[in-house]
Amino acid sequence: MIDMHAHCLPRIARDEAFAVDAERAPWLELEPGGERGHIMLGDRRFRPVTSSLWDPAVRVAELDAQGVALQVVCATPVMFGYAWPAQRTADWAARMNEHVLGYCAHAPTRLKALAQVPLQDLDLACREASRAMDSGCIGVQIGNHVGERDLDDEALVQFLIHCAERHIPVLVHPWDMMGGGRMKKWMLPWLVAMPAETQLGMLSLILSGALERIPESLKICFAHGGGSFAWLLGRVDNAWRHRDIVRQDCPQLPSSYARRFHVDTAVFDTGALRLLTDVMGTDRVMLGSDSPFPLGEQRIGSLVRESPHLSDADRGRMLRGNAESFFGLALTAAENTLGLN
Ligand SMILES: [Zn+2]
Repeated sequence: MIDMHAHCLPRIARDEAFAVDAERAPWLELEPGGERGHIMLGDRRFRPVTSSLWDPAVRVAELDAQGVALQVVCATPVMFGYAWPAQRTADWAARMNEHVLGYCAHAPTRLKALAQVPLQDLDLACREASRAMDSGCIGVQIGNHVGERDLDDEALVQFLIHCAERHIPVLVHPWDMMGGGRMKKWMLPWLVAMPAETQLGMLSLILSGALERIPESLKICFAHGGGSFAWLLGRVDNAWRHRDIVRQDCPQLPSSYARRFHVDTAVFDTGALRLLTDVMGTDRVMLGSDSPFPLGEQRIGSLVRESPHLSDADRGRMLRGNAESFFGLALTAAENTLGLN
């Protein structure tokens, strides 16, 4: 199996974070023993975490136990830093990317890295994306928005065109969720706003007409099965047919663009996965666990393995083949024997 959506967070020290942003730069507070800790923002505890997040030896042991041949890891979105002055974020992103590459260097055939970029500045983002690819990253991860700017923003479209032209695969991850004050409790930002953020990113690209200008060669994947996108695509098509303001920038039926996107499998329900494969195609859905967080798939690949509507060929594509072609990976025969049973 190849798991294309997983996170790490380097052992960022408090001083290093405070030198960048004393309120919002993340760092790791470790508990005695070093196996558990917290992601900190300033002096506030943001999330309890365990050592696979920062210790690649622990991560590889988990991959062995789960039968995962290769995991693609990327920054925890709280590391993005899009609200900081652009050059400060560019320096931070380059440092974080080197940290993540160092994490993967522990087991280079088992762990691969996606880069983060200073997305608030087009030139700096393009430069860091290309630099990180030259350093060994296999793609980039971006947030679905930069402040008030969504993926239809001209600079963000230009960044995606840069990625298409340079053959840089892109994972879009929801972050900085909408609805703040009304979603304080019960992890509602993760349960309600995150899927909507993802759908917003996908519809921003479709309804703005941006996909008419972005080369079809762009490899772009949206996390969490594309959030609300597949479920509500019929509603969007209906709106496009009956309201000219929905059609004004989008010349084709919205659903006709669905196959420009890839999504991961993190939907946690066989019925939802069936809808997702019907809408996107089994060649556009890739195993993504969102490890090592509690809202990720705890038995990596179990949903795909246990979904009765999938053929063995479908499962092979979703558990491995689609990610191989998305990232241009070629596993050796020995690596392929891991996790294919
Ligand atoms: Zn994630």
